[in-house]
Amino acid sequence: GLSVSKDFDFFYFVQQWPGSYCDTKQSCCYPTTGKPAADFGVHGLWPNYNDGTYPSNCDSSAPFDQSKVSNLITTMQKEWPTLACPSGDGVTFWSHEWDKHGTCSEEVLDQHSYFARALGFKTQTNILQALKTAGIQPDGGSYSLSSIKSAIQSGVGYTPYIECNTDESGNSQLYQVYLCVDNSGSKLVECPVFPHGKCGSQIEFPSF
Ligand code: 5GP
Ligand code: 5GP
Ligand code: 5GP
Repeated sequence: GLSVSKDFDFFYFVQQWPGSYCDTKQSCCYPTTGKPAADFGVHGLWPNYNDGTYPSNCDSSAPFDQSKVSNLITTMQKEWPTLACPSGDGVTFWSHEWDKHGTCSEEVLDQHSYFARALGFKTQTNILQALKTAGIQPDGGSYSLSSIKSAIQSGVGYTPYIECNTDESGNSQLYQVYLCVDNSGSKLVECPVFPHGKCGSQIEFPSF
């Protein structure tokens, strides 16, 4: 449109731990392309406002078009796997993320750039390596929330927000890691605002 101002302030770049998606009451289904690696997977790149609110579903005239990301599909299957049931090839998950979030940042990232940037941030952040370097392994053990945050801060250079969920026994566990990206989608920044939500002071890091 005519406006030159971007109508959002930053992105959350969100990654999920598959072990914590799968060991819940709701459970999970592996993609039709096979069990994902024991690594964090991309959940999404979400435009957000500094007041904590966010735009969504901004352009119903621009649906997800697989042909625009054909050169990224193999990498998306690996780095952005779907774990929802029933099993799928990922297109439903990627379409949802594009429709809900990606269409709200079209003025800075077209569809190909949106997926390519997210994959780039996945590689750049390498959260699992940051945690392992600090001795924090996906071994079902319990770790302090502060040690997890410090390990990611040290490895990535930015302070993450940790979202927890609960396993079937009700234990609080490491589910998603939020980092922030500037509103041009080009670089990591410190988060202007964190989401809200509870973790225990000690949380589990389940295997996958
Ligand atoms: P939940 O209610 O499970 O936390 O989030 C459901 C969905 O709402 C997320 O997957 C995401 O699409 C969206 N969402 C939740 N919190 C935020 C947020 O703080 N910022 C943005 N941009 N989206 C969010
Ligand atoms: P969000 O929470 O991002 O708004 O929505 C996530 C949507 O994508 C839900 O409809 C969920 O069923 C679907 N989905 C498909 N695969 C996954 C996955 O691996 N993780 C999450 N969190 N949602 C997935
Ligand atoms: P502080 O601002 O003192 O670090 O934390 C204030 C409260 O927020 C504490 O209850 C702390 O456990 C919680 N908290 C700090 N960082 C995170 C985080 O990354 N995720 C979640 N869920 N809670 C956090």
